[in-house]
This record gives sequence, C-alpha cells and structure tokens, in this order.
Amino acid sequence: MNNLVFSPQPKMDSAGGAAGILVIDIAALKRNYRRLSAASAPARAAAVVKADAYGLGAAKVVTAVYEEGCRHFFVALFSEALQLCSQLPLDVEIFVLNGLLPGSEYACAANNVTPVINSLEQLRQWSLTAHSLNRRLPAVLQFDTGMSRLGIPPEDRPAAKAYLQDSDKIDVRFIMSHLASADEPGSEQNAVQLANMKVIASEFPDIDVCFANSGAVFLGEAYRGVLTRPGIALYGGRPTADMHEPMEQVVGLQVAVAQTRTVQAGAKVGYSGTHIAKEEMRLATISAGYADGLPRSLSSRGAVFYRGTRLPIVGRVSMDSMTIDISCLPKDAIVHGSLVEVIGPHQTLEELASDAETISYEILTSLGRRYARRYV
Ligand SMILES: *Cc1c(COP(=O)(O)O)cnc(C)c1O
Repeated sequence: MNNLVFSPQPKMDSAGGAAGILVIDIAALKRNYRRLSAASAPARAAAVVKADAYGLGAAKVVTAVYEEGCRHFFVALFSEALQLCSQLPLDVEIFVLNGLLPGSEYACAANNVTPVINSLEQLRQWSLTAHSLNRRLPAVLQFDTGMSRLGIPPEDRPAAKAYLQDSDKIDVRFIMSHLASADEPGSEQNAVQLANMKVIASEFPDIDVCFANSGAVFLGEAYRGVLTRPGIALYGGRPTADMHEPMEQVVGLQVAVAQTRTVQAGAKVGYSGTHIAKEEMRLATISAGYADGLPRSLSSRGAVFYRGTRLPIVGRVSMDSMTIDISCLPKDAIVHGSLVEVIGPHQTLEELASDAETISYEILTSLGRRYARRYV
C-alpha cells in the first residue's frame, strides 16, 4: 500500500517538541576567535565565557576556542570557574571578574582559579589566604578608570601598591580595567579611561596590562595591553557601532508554528487586543515568547522571516508564543510545524536586538533552555 496516498506520513517534528531550533555554528565561532586574535596581536586574546558563554553553552565554546589556541578564560563568578575547571586541560588560566565572595578563598586557591581583586579588602583577604597556605597565589588587580562599577578606586591605589611591596605572596598576573564606552569609538570616555590606565601602568611598571573588551580590540593598539578580553564579538555581536556586522553570525534561531488561522476585519489579536485586524488576515502563532528570550518589547514591532519574506509580529508577545502576520504568503506556504527564522540569514542578532530596543548581549543571554540546540 502506498502510504503517501492513503495516510500521509506525519512530518517529522524537527524541533523535537521544543520551541524551536537554536543552531550554534562552532566553525563561525572559531573563525571569530581567529579574527579577534589576529586583531589583538601582538597581544593575546582571552575568551570571556561568563553566563554560560553568553548563553551559547560554555562547555562547547571553551573547547572550540581552546582548539584555536585560547588559554585565558574569564567568567563572572567563582561557581562558573569551578565548572570550567573540569572541562579544560591544566594549561589554562581561569579568571573570576567579580572577584571572590568572602568564604570562597580557599576553594579558589585549591582549584588554581585566579580571582580579579577589586578592592583593598579583597587584596587583604587573598594575601591572608596565601600566607595561611604558605603559597604564592595568582591574582589580577582591577582598577576603576572611570566606570565606577568594579575595581580598586584611584584613592586606594597607593595602599594597594604598598601592600604588594610588603607581601611577596601575591603573584599579580595582570593589571586590568574595563571600558564603559568601547562600543562607541567616538566617545570621549575611551580616551579618559586610556589616560587613566596609562598612569596606572606607570605605577605598576613590571606588570602586564589587560584592558580591551570586544569593542576596544578595534579602537587601536593602545587599548590592547598584552591580553584582550573579547566576549560578544566571539558570539557574532557587533564590537563597535561603526562596524557594519564585521563578525560572523554564530547563532541561528528557527521557531515552530503552533497554529495558523484566518481572522476577519475587527478581530483582536493577543493579550489586551492591542492589534485589531483592519481586513481579513492570515495569522500564524509561533511557539516562542518572552520566556524564550524574545522580549515583550517586540510586541507589534519586530518580525520573523520565512524564506526571505518578512512576517511582522502582531499584538503582544506572550510568555510561550507570539502571533505573526502571514497574509503576504501564498496560502499553505506556512502550516502547523513549519519553522520560521527569528535569527538567521535575513535577520541578524543585532537587528532583532535593535527592534527589541535592547542589545545583542541581552538577547543571547536570555534565549534560555527551551530550544533544541544544534552545534554545527
Ligand atoms: C563582560 C566583560 C568583558 C567582555 O565584554 P564584551 O563587550 O562582551 O567583549 C570584558 N571585560 C569585562 C570586565 C567584562 O565584564
């Protein structure tokens, strides 16, 4: 019996019951790392892999960039560092940007993780730990050069320097700082922070400098020190506002259609009925919403694509779904189970972020766990 005629084979659920398919292109990630390494040279490029490598999966990301020669990894938290320790060979250094919370010092030392020291008190705690273990412990000293977020404030620098001269137990691997506006090449704040960093470097002349994030890699050699710290550019985000999509896209997102319908003029669409059909229209409801990292700010603003055709989001984005206008497509082009492109060849991560009035970082780190992940 020909079952194609008598009982159509149900289409495979290619998303495996998930909201959609998140494709992470490891080869593109590797090329981005190579490009950032080349742009950083002669400085080396670390990889910032905090927040599960910006949501892409730290285990896969660290292995990929390790294969490209990356040996320095930055996370935000000590708990993230502990997870990486088990995934990486011993010839790497793992740095904790937010420093240590009181009580993690011994665990940090035992696991050969390097904390970023952000205050005099943290410096004191870390050297007490070193003394009581009778070991020299590695540290990065972070200085605030004008962002007022993390780092030793200018007035505490002399005390930090005196402290280090008295104690041989801290092996300062790098002095570092972070730029507030590296993504805006024209911002005056960059030059101010660079000037402050130069003063600090002259006060600690024997210690290597680690300064640039993704954007600053492209601001010029003065910003790079000996080790750069790119994050978003590895993952395909735009490093600076004046570069037009210079990095390769790493993430692709397709979402499954849960239902299609035709509505008449006057029909209200979605919560609070914020969209009212002006004429008959065809709609598709797709299986991802703000719980899947597609912000509610995309309500009646953003779009998805189907084979290059733009399909506007209509009405409010719900928690697990949103509705798109498919009137412009031939009838039956999109059916139950079809996949539409949310991030891909027709819509970059940056474009989606801009429609949502946010930044690529927030989109990536919000994508969450409900997609089937494919690493290619
Ligand atoms: C997150 C972070 C980075 C990476 O920044 P990108 O803009 O993603 O390249 C670098 N340094 C510090 C201190 C950070 O917090």
